[in-house]
Amino acid sequence: MNEIVRQVQSDHVQFIDLQFTDINGTIKSVTIPTARLQEAIDRGVWFDGSSIQGFARIQESDMFLMPDLATYRVLPWTSDERRRARLICDIKRPDGTPFEGDPRSALRRAISRCTTLGYAYNCGPELEFFLFKKNGDGPLAPVPHDVGGYFDFSPKDEAQSIRADIVRALEQMGMSVEASHHEVATGQHEIDFEYADALTAADNAVTFKYTVKAIAAAWGVYATFMPKPIFGINGSGMHTHQSLIDLKNGQNLFFDTDDPYKLSALAYAFIAGQLYHAKALSAVVAPTVNSYKRLTPGYEAPVYISWAQVNRSALIRIPRYSPGRDQSTRVELRFPDPSCNPYLAFAAMLYAGLDGIEKELPHVEPVNEDLYHFTTEDLKLRGIETLPGTLGSALDALEVDDVVLSALGDHIAEWYLRAKRAEWDEYRIQVSQWEIDRYLETL
Ligand code: GLU
Ligand code: MG
Repeated sequence: MNEIVRQVQSDHVQFIDLQFTDINGTIKSVTIPTARLQEAIDRGVWFDGSSIQGFARIQESDMFLMPDLATYRVLPWTSDERRRARLICDIKRPDGTPFEGDPRSALRRAISRCTTLGYAYNCGPELEFFLFKKNGDGPLAPVPHDVGGYFDFSPKDEAQSIRADIVRALEQMGMSVEASHHEVATGQHEIDFEYADALTAADNAVTFKYTVKAIAAAWGVYATFMPKPIFGINGSGMHTHQSLIDLKNGQNLFFDTDDPYKLSALAYAFIAGQLYHAKALSAVVAPTVNSYKRLTPGYEAPVYISWAQVNRSALIRIPRYSPGRDQSTRVELRFPDPSCNPYLAFAAMLYAGLDGIEKELPHVEPVNEDLYHFTTEDLKLRGIETLPGTLGSALDALEVDDVVLSALGDHIAEWYLRAKRAEWDEYRIQVSQWEIDRYLETL
């Protein structure tokens, strides 16, 4: 009997959620009773993928889920009588080869390319989110839970307690929480967990989202990872700290004691690669119409394609070095937001960075001033470009960037562009309240 089957019995688990994500990063799951687990481990579980976003053409609808046993976790919010656990799965074709429409397999492919070069890629994503009040049975509206007046409940203690419950649930899900705090905006929070290899970090980011949502729901509020739910205040990012580690000796390859920023030539090339591919990358790391409402000046989210030591308006920030932190040298990419599919985001970020290394892209000078105050002429003079202003222009950039496209692989690239173009077009033809207010009477 498999060890996990034994574990499931001792945990009194009755059902197992076999999880995977579609190209948008939405969690899908097939639930099996515990009695079927041994068979699922031996032979996988067949399913019809043809109705999953971005998965299959009709002729490719047969595929199977292969549980990754290292991802076994009991879901702490399920009741004793209906105790459930989850296993994250890889998706395989009938002949046992990885299904190239599976976002997790795209990240596995990117990681194995990195392994061939002798590096491990570590990621530490920081997901911000809002907690909002529910409006009885009415439609959801973005009303921060800690604003008094909408309906009564005491704001400050409530926020602390909800966050404490979330942290406890994350720990029970095997994630080590480093810090949690109220973010800048009303109703906004951040909980940071320990960095890991990119695959584990992506699994953790996905787990984080549904854990936060489940605990918020238990408190009668709802959590959203929408990048910019409210105009005029900060949005939610998923800043990601990244480093490359030498597979031979475990040393952090981004560190160099002789450099003023303590960065190695490899780190500079990696940064140059991510800046070079930034426009196309944005279609993957900031993938929704709403993402571009966040990437505007004045809200601590980046807009300019530059890097800096401290500057929050820069796309890449290098956390300040302090003695003894050689091994934690890292490059923080600030434009991802939590609406992305973390598997695809990390695969694309890795490909962009590795491209900088392989092509030996030239060193890019940092810009440490606050770019929000630069005029268009200043920016032009300094050669600083801006991120795409809409999902539409991000997709234009993605369509012509072979490096970022190859991170997705042909299958996902085709479906992703098609789905995202449709999303953009659907939005583009809407008539918004802003237009009515601005034009209806005056034109
Ligand atoms: N919420 C900001 C963003 O949209 C970031 C704030 C921070 O620096 O943590 O990226
Ligand atoms: Mg933050």
